[in-house]
Amino acid sequence: MEKVDAIIIGAGVVGLAIAAKMSNTLQSVLLIDKNQSFGEETSSRNSEVIHAGIYYPQNSLKAKLCVEGKELLYLYCQSRKIPHQRLGKLLVAHGAAEERYLVKTIKQAALNGVNDLTWLTEAELKTSNPNLKASAALLSPSTGIIDVHSYMQSLLAELEENKGQFVAQTAFVDAQPNGNGFDVTLNSQGEMMKINCNYLINSGGLHSTNLAGNIRGLAKTHIPKLNYCRGHYFSYQGKSPFSQLIYPVPEAHGLGIHASLDIGGQLKFGPDTQYIDTIDYKVSVKLKEKFIEAIQRYYPTIDAERLQPAYSGIRPKLEGPNDGFKDFIIQGANEHNITGLVNLFGIDSPGLTSSLAIAEYVTATLKI
Ligand SMILES: Cc1cc2nc3c(=O)[nH]c(=O)nc-3n(C[C@H](O)[C@H](O)[C@H](O)COP(=O)(O)OP(=O)(O)OC[C@H]3O[C@@H](n4cnc5c(N)ncnc54)[C@H](O)[C@@H]3O)c2cc1C
Repeated sequence: MEKVDAIIIGAGVVGLAIAAKMSNTLQSVLLIDKNQSFGEETSSRNSEVIHAGIYYPQNSLKAKLCVEGKELLYLYCQSRKIPHQRLGKLLVAHGAAEERYLVKTIKQAALNGVNDLTWLTEAELKTSNPNLKASAALLSPSTGIIDVHSYMQSLLAELEENKGQFVAQTAFVDAQPNGNGFDVTLNSQGEMMKINCNYLINSGGLHSTNLAGNIRGLAKTHIPKLNYCRGHYFSYQGKSPFSQLIYPVPEAHGLGIHASLDIGGQLKFGPDTQYIDTIDYKVSVKLKEKFIEAIQRYYPTIDAERLQPAYSGIRPKLEGPNDGFKDFIIQGANEHNITGLVNLFGIDSPGLTSSLAIAEYVTATLKI
C-alpha cells in the first residue's frame, strides 16, 4: 500500500492552509478534493473580507483565530504579493439602541485584543461618506479585502514547492485506524485505491460530518449536527458609492446585508441568512425587495435598476435557526482519542480570515 505522512481531505481555503503548513515539516503531504479543482465550494462563495475579530465572544476559537489569523494573513499577502486592501469598515448605527450596540462592540473588541476602533459622528460621516445614512458609526481600520482565488493559488504553490501534492477529482471514501495511522480508501474518478497515512485531517466543509461518519472508530457522539445556512449576494452595477465596507449591526446568524467591494472595485450587497435542507446555490430574484429595504436604511438613494442577483454561499453552521453562538470545533485526540486525526466542524465565517491560524492550531494539536 502506498504511504504518505498526511492526507488532508478538502482543498478549500482551510484545507489548503493546513496542507501548506504541514508540508513545511512533513516529507509527503497529500491534499485531495472531490471536485475538478481546489476551492470550488464555500471558499469561492463568500464576501472575501479579512475580518477584524470584533464580535465573537472572548476566548472563543472564532475570536482568537480570527485576530491571530488576520495578522498572519496580512503578512502572508505582503510577502507573497496577493492582491488585498486594508480598506477599513464602517459599522453603522441608526438611533440610540443601535448606538448602544456600537458602545458594546468597542468593549467586546477590546476583550478580543482589537483596540483600534474609532467613533464617527453623524456630521463626520456626512463629510466623509455623503451617500451614507447613519446616526453614528465605528470605523474598523484593520478590516480589509482579499483576492481569495490568488490566496488559494499561493497556498497550493507553497504546498507544491515543499513537494506536497494536490489531487483533484478524488473523493475520500473511508478510513480505518490501524494502530499506527490510517488505511484510507479514496475514489479517484471511479478507481478505488488505498493509501496509508500517519495524520488524517477532515477539512470537508459542508461535508465534514458525513466524512466523519466514515472514519471507523470515531464515536458518533463526536460528530455534531451541521446546518446549512445560505447567504445570497446582489451585485451593484457601475461605480461604487462607497470606498469602504459598510456593515449594519449584525442580525441573528449573520453580519447583516452589508456592502463590500472586491479587489476590482465591484460593489456587492449581502449575504442574508436562510436555513436550507440541501445544498442548493440558487439566488431568487424575489429577494430583491428584501435587499432594497435592508440597504435603504444606510444607502437611501440606491438605484434598484443597478442591483442584480449574483451568487450565494452556504455556511456550514453548528447552530440551528433557534440557537445562539456556536464556536468552531477543531477536534484532536484529546477529544476523540484517535491519535493523528483532526476533524474540523462548523468552519463558517470567519474561516477565511482565520485560515492560517487554524493551520497553526491543527499542527499544534498534532504536535508537529
Ligand atoms: C456567504 C458566506 C460569506 C462568508 N464571508 C466570509 C468573509 O468575508 N470572511 C471570512 O473570513 N469568512 C467568510 N466566510 C467563511 C469562509 O468562506 C469559510 O469559513 C471558508 O471558506 C471555509 O473553508 P473550508 O476549506 O473549511 O471549506 P470549503 O471551501 O467548503 O472546502 C471544503 C472542501 O472539501 C471538499 N470535500 C468535501 N467532501 C469531500 C470528500 N468526500 N472527498 C474529497 N473532498 C471533499 C469539498 O469539495 C470542498 O472543496 C463566509 C462564508 C459564507 C458561506
